[in-house]
Amino acid sequence: MNTKLSILIIEDEKNICDFIATALINQNYKVYKSYSGKDGLSQITSRCPEILLLDLGLPDMDGMDIIRQVRAWSSMPIIVISARTQENDKVAALDLGADDYITKPFGTSELLARIRTAVRHISHMNGSGPAESHIFSSKGLVIDFDKRRITVNGEEIHLTQVEYKIVSLLANNSGKVITYDTLISHVWGPYADDNNRILRVNMANIRRKMEKNPAQPQYIFTEIGIGYRMVDADV
Ligand code: CA
Repeated sequence: MNTKLSILIIEDEKNICDFIATALINQNYKVYKSYSGKDGLSQITSRCPEILLLDLGLPDMDGMDIIRQVRAWSSMPIIVISARTQENDKVAALDLGADDYITKPFGTSELLARIRTAVRHISHMNGSGPAESHIFSSKGLVIDFDKRRITVNGEEIHLTQVEYKIVSLLANNSGKVITYDTLISHVWGPYADDNNRILRVNMANIRRKMEKNPAQPQYIFTEIGIGYRMVDADV
């Protein structure tokens, strides 16, 4: 990487903000810090960071309003930093257009994994990534989007149309959590019944076909109360 990728952290807890900043600086990212919502918003416009790490609970503003304002004009990746008690907030943040979230307390490796996923999505948006290959591959799972063909360790897996729609949406967003509502409206349309039962039934069938041990999935993970996440693609 010739130019450092820049990340703005908006987090009022200084020790968390500094912990994140140190971890990112060590990985050679350019880091800006902000301890309040209003200052954060002004830094977004003045510094034009490429990725935003955003605490939802800020003293002067609701983090949701920041997501709304940023999404009005920018598709920059937004990773929400949230407390474990804010399950509903996480879903709302994702549905407002946040890309991902990380739950406090978190370690460096989890943080860096989220950042790497965001970086990959930036390269896809800029057309400089491997997005053109139309093949997803991870740990023996291969999805060929052109042929609509899925294999696990070379063996073909037969999915229904609905199951394929679910798997391909997750694979196209690998590493990112996709909420139940997003999946349901993608597959069954925006006016579908928003109860998750039919989605859960389909996911159980998908796992039975794809996973060696459906109780301990290695490809599609459940984010309880939020949605599903496909394992990162092999690089
Ligand atoms: Ca806070």
